[in-house]
Amino acid sequence: MNKLDSSLHRFPVKHFGTASDFLLSAESEERDTLMIACADQGGAPDRVSFAKSGRFFVVQHLASSIRPAGDRDENSEISDIEFAFSKYKIKHVIICGHTGCGVIRNWLLYPDAPDVSGIRARFEQTTLEAVNQAYPEYSAEDRIEALICEHTLFQLEHLCSHAFIRNKLEAGTLQLHAWVVNDNTARVRSYDPARGCFAII
Ligand SMILES: [Zn+2]
Repeated sequence: MNKLDSSLHRFPVKHFGTASDFLLSAESEERDTLMIACADQGGAPDRVSFAKSGRFFVVQHLASSIRPAGDRDENSEISDIEFAFSKYKIKHVIICGHTGCGVIRNWLLYPDAPDVSGIRARFEQTTLEAVNQAYPEYSAEDRIEALICEHTLFQLEHLCSHAFIRNKLEAGTLQLHAWVVNDNTARVRSYDPARGCFAII
């Protein structure tokens, strides 16, 4: 895939785990991994990993969207994420996008549809604006791919804006992962912050 513009995000590389960090303990059944996936990704999004399903606490939300700190809404996905951290010793958080995302395609096709939760407006102000500015020459197909990859990274940024996540990252007890799943092949690409691209794992 095309290399992404790394200037769009400021992630400390040290906060990212690698696929091997995660897979080294693939046989573990300890619930130590929070996966934030898209509601449109179907059931059991964790099946794309090689790990045992008992390992995952899965939160599914529209386009894996996460509110940044300060944009609090009761009963939001943030409450689910906080619950996971309060109940389990979460060591990995995986934000998972997918190539066939019907939510993002719907937002693009029907920009005037009601946006009760404001999630689509945030997508337009962050992901869509960044992709339009950074990759104006992309074909329609490459643009969709860039939107899905960049949206996944923006959600990771939003997650990191929450103090309870930042504290765990600074303490070195939590590793970040950003994945994009190909819905046709189930192949997973993971974000490599040093290279600024998603690479097959
Ligand atoms: Zn989706």
